[in-house]
Amino acid sequence: MCDMGSGLREFGLDTLRRLAGYQRPKEWHFFLSHLHWDHIMGFPFFTPASVEGAKVIIHAGHVDAEEALRRQQERISFPVPFEWLKADIEFCTLTPGTEYQVGELTVGLIDQAHSHVSYGYRFRDAQGSTVVYSTDAEYKIDKMGQESAMVDFMAGADLVIADTMYSLADSVSIKEDWGHSSNIVAVDLCHEAGAKRLALFHHEPTYSDADIQRMHDETIRYEELTRSGSELEVICSHDGLCVEI
Ligand SMILES: [Zn+2]
Ligand SMILES: [Zn+2]
Repeated sequence: MCDMGSGLREFGLDTLRRLAGYQRPKEWHFFLSHLHWDHIMGFPFFTPASVEGAKVIIHAGHVDAEEALRRQQERISFPVPFEWLKADIEFCTLTPGTEYQVGELTVGLIDQAHSHVSYGYRFRDAQGSTVVYSTDAEYKIDKMGQESAMVDFMAGADLVIADTMYSLADSVSIKEDWGHSSNIVAVDLCHEAGAKRLALFHHEPTYSDADIQRMHDETIRYEELTRSGSELEVICSHDGLCVEI
């Protein structure tokens, strides 16, 4: 799992239902982009963490990930303290630039411009299929030359899930330095990296469904206008979306 948003409650229940009757190890791996509340608030409601014999491994670039998760279950915020969780919970601090083998995936991370830093992740399976998860990252359109590390990180990805919270106009004017990116910058990065598919993600919370639809339509048009190589398919993230890689 990438991050622990509010969808984690339903995911936890669903995963337990699916595991019922199978003799499979009950083991969950999390990869945290960062520790802001919208990315960790689902964990107190993640039922598998209360299951005896379950194993939960939380991978993060931040050394203070454990502190953040324990703190949000202190008595002032939540009735069940972290210490009461019955699963075996382990924290792993990962270093950018190093590759890790986690289950059947090779995982790497990269640091991104955001308040208190965030990390993007790259997951690759044995067949070479690659997914990049890059959210809460501010890429600067006027400094795209400096974004070459990110282009390398996304190189040839089958799917890039990217922070496209703002329109370009917002991201270079009123919302500059707020730590998020635009759909335009995401397309530029994906084109340069030769990625095959882009999922617009981390929608602006004040946007209506119609606003998000418009953003999706505009991004497809922009991709067509600026394409010089092969097509980058642009999809729009929503609750419950499944994408086959
Ligand atoms: Zn954030
Ligand atoms: Zn966020």
